[in-house]
Amino acid sequence: MRIQKLDPTLINQIAAGEVVERPASVVKELVENAFDADATRIEVELQGGGRDLIRVSDDGGGIDPEDLPLAVTSHATSKVLRLEDLQAIGTMGFRGEALASIASVGSFRLESRTADHEEAWSIEVAGGIAAEPTPCAGPIGTRVDVGHLFRDVPARRRFLKSEGAEASRVAEVVRNLALTRPQVAMKLVSNGRTLLEFAASDDPRQRVVDVIGREFEDHLVEITGQIGDPADGTLASVWGMVGTPEIARPTTKKQRFVLNGRVIVDRSLAHALKEGFRGLLEPSRHPVAVIHVDLDPGRVDVNVHPAKTEVRFREPRPLHGLVRRAVREALESTDLVRDIALKPPEPSDETSTLPGDSVSHRAGSSSRGPGPSTVVPTTSRGGRPDPAAWRDAMRDAPWPEDHADSEAASPLPTVVGRDAVLQIHESFLVTQDSEGLVIIDQHALHERVMFETLQQRIATGPLESQRQLVPVVFDAEPESVSGLETLAPLLERIGIEATASGPRGIAIHAFPSLLLDRKVDPGPFLSELLERHAAGEIDAPDTEAALSDVLDLMSCKAAVKAGDRLRPQEIAALLDMRSRIDRGASCPHGRPTHLRIPIPELERRFGRSSG
Ligand code: ADP
Ligand code: MG
Repeated sequence: MRIQKLDPTLINQIAAGEVVERPASVVKELVENAFDADATRIEVELQGGGRDLIRVSDDGGGIDPEDLPLAVTSHATSKVLRLEDLQAIGTMGFRGEALASIASVGSFRLESRTADHEEAWSIEVAGGIAAEPTPCAGPIGTRVDVGHLFRDVPARRRFLKSEGAEASRVAEVVRNLALTRPQVAMKLVSNGRTLLEFAASDDPRQRVVDVIGREFEDHLVEITGQIGDPADGTLASVWGMVGTPEIARPTTKKQRFVLNGRVIVDRSLAHALKEGFRGLLEPSRHPVAVIHVDLDPGRVDVNVHPAKTEVRFREPRPLHGLVRRAVREALESTDLVRDIALKPPEPSDETSTLPGDSVSHRAGSSSRGPGPSTVVPTTSRGGRPDPAAWRDAMRDAPWPEDHADSEAASPLPTVVGRDAVLQIHESFLVTQDSEGLVIIDQHALHERVMFETLQQRIATGPLESQRQLVPVVFDAEPESVSGLETLAPLLERIGIEATASGPRGIAIHAFPSLLLDRKVDPGPFLSELLERHAAGEIDAPDTEAALSDVLDLMSCKAAVKAGDRLRPQEIAALLDMRSRIDRGASCPHGRPTHLRIPIPELERRFGRSSG
């Protein structure tokens, strides 16, 4: 066949393949245009899931009649003039091809009126040919009707799913778009039925709740944070709402990221979110979250994906750290204990308490629980810990050496002080204190004790380390090898001495005694540390935040795990350490190490009293 120039309609249809996949993508483009026109109300209507009709109406600035033919011509846009504009895009659209593409794959009519005109003008496109604009009656703003989507492109029409499935994809897109513009009222109507309706609000929290679902409202925690300097344009800020662990989902469907007003899919941000929840969630659960990131448009390329759902950050690492820290800080300052509380007791009549019934148990605690939360973290007792004593405790504490040796572990209670402690399901320790029943998460407690001990210890100098007779050598990615140098000061503090061994190998010469005592394998540990650094999860090595992250990792690796059977002396050692740590300090993961069910609560539960 001879080489020929493609005719413009075909060019548009090919372009449409990239932007217009299904009704949801048409809706996205049209609503984004309405945003760019500063609309305050946008309504989307569907017939037949959008196959028969998609109508998007807005009250934005409209299009001048003389510009109508250009609006439906490809590569015609009012938004980008020069290449430099592309580097700092402030509008949703910029390619100037959405309308032309959409018009090439369905019947198309656009009606628009600006404030300067008495009447609206409409333009129709059929078979790729735009008719002359004609005047008509209509309000200020724009309305686009797209009918019979893909009627002339059967291959694409066949790919469309059922009417309901297409409508729910549209709903998903409308929710996403709604999140980006809380001040714009939005509505989605399908076959005459209102599916979504979002009132305009100046409070972005309101929109998040509307979109995520009112049922989650009481379980959302606000996050904020920023890095950089607004003066030199390096400022990046994050704001959002994340769901507490108890409302985590089996999928990531309820996670949305908004970058500079655009919903994006980004693995690094999703990862940062997950990291913020580290230790709080089962690996198979995913937090509910809406996270807005704003940064200088010059620092991100949105022009890497035709539908603009993926972006490329110039410096992804600081952003990762920003999001992770914001999430973690918010969770740490939240009383997560409330989230795993028993349901609040039904209000009942106090006078039904049996006389003389277990009054003595109430000594020291108020007769009412602390508000609706009835399982409370035990509070600080004991004074400031003495670092030297801790060190000894850490060293002397006998810890499980061989888990196969399960005979040695006793299913019987261990007596610690005056109380009996029972290990259940090889994960929890159950005991009592003066106020009630206490349940301890063995891993969480040990991890926390380790963390606090390490933090205190490291303030006095580098950690003790043990030289390897033969260096441990392991293979590593080049990024990891180069990370060795950046992390050197940090590694020195924790007692790791390692050098590059060729471009893809690392040799460990010395390793912290504490980790060796706890049977932590040097190779995998350092390789994980370096990988996390390469992924941007551990910041600049000179910051305290980075040190905390590393200590956190060390504690986690060194701590007993859920599933480790503990011997009586180990249980005793753990409880002894517990009594020495400062309970007022926040724990590394912000999650409770233990819970208490107060006696009055047990009494209520068993119908013995109504306290
Ligand atoms: P882009 O959004 O990339 O500029 P489009 O093909 O989506 O390209 O739109 C072409 C032009 O039509 C826009 O640049 C804008 O000037 C105009 N336009 C489209 N939709 C609207 C609308 N709803 N209100 C006002 N102007 C619009
Ligand atoms: Mg557009």
